[in-house]
Amino acid sequence: MDADILESRQRLNRSAFIRVHPRSNFPPSNRRPLPLKTKLVLFDIDGTILSSGGAGEQALAQAIREQFGQEEKLGNVELAGKTDVWIAHRIFEVRGIEPKPESVDLFLDRYLHHLKVELARHNGRLLPGFPEILHALARLPNVAVGLLTGNLRRGAELKLGHYGVLEHFPFGAFADDSRDRNELGPFARKRAHDAHGTEFQSGDIYVIGDTPHDIACAKAIHARAVGVATDRYSRAALDAAGADFVFDDLSDTEGVIRTLGLNPA
Ligand SMILES: [Mg+2]
Repeated sequence: MDADILESRQRLNRSAFIRVHPRSNFPPSNRRPLPLKTKLVLFDIDGTILSSGGAGEQALAQAIREQFGQEEKLGNVELAGKTDVWIAHRIFEVRGIEPKPESVDLFLDRYLHHLKVELARHNGRLLPGFPEILHALARLPNVAVGLLTGNLRRGAELKLGHYGVLEHFPFGAFADDSRDRNELGPFARKRAHDAHGTEFQSGDIYVIGDTPHDIACAKAIHARAVGVATDRYSRAALDAAGADFVFDDLSDTEGVIRTLGLNPA
């Protein structure tokens, strides 16, 4: 090929490239898209999104009966705001039984088995404001939604699936990650980063829950603590625990979103 023709073809190719790829000097398209999510909302499940109507307690009781061959005394084991793994350990300890990992795993497997059955047998419900607030948050382009819950991942799937809201929660932190609820925040934050490519700042993270344990676990990552007085803890108790915001429930969807400042800037 003679030099003139070669040069003119190269010129053509260059101009074609420029026409087809007018932004070819911009970062390559395999980079992450620009982060659009700036706020992260993390929900507790029991007493916040839903009430299982006693299904969770009944499933625990069944697992206790199977594992220990005795009536299902939960004794003074505190359930609200604790992780399932913490609860399982306490159930062993109050009986003076060493919580060996394999025994605890077996116990939790049986709990999950019974949970599925009991959810269908109890009259639980979504709490006021659900699922409306999830639909509203899904319409906000700047807001990412996830879970920060003491449930095992499988237990969370069973409960949220049973009440038809599982699809709203693409990621979360669970009892599988740590027995200590206060250690769950960083797991949720990392999964939010993996899902959205955004390093959410503490002040842009909202942890919503119904117990002082949820408030503490928000504080552990310097996030905004949002209390909902939908279960056993009053507004005053959640305030006293240091909540940044407290609502009777989440039924005033627009009011909650406005108060928390979740609308796009
Ligand atoms: Mg709760």
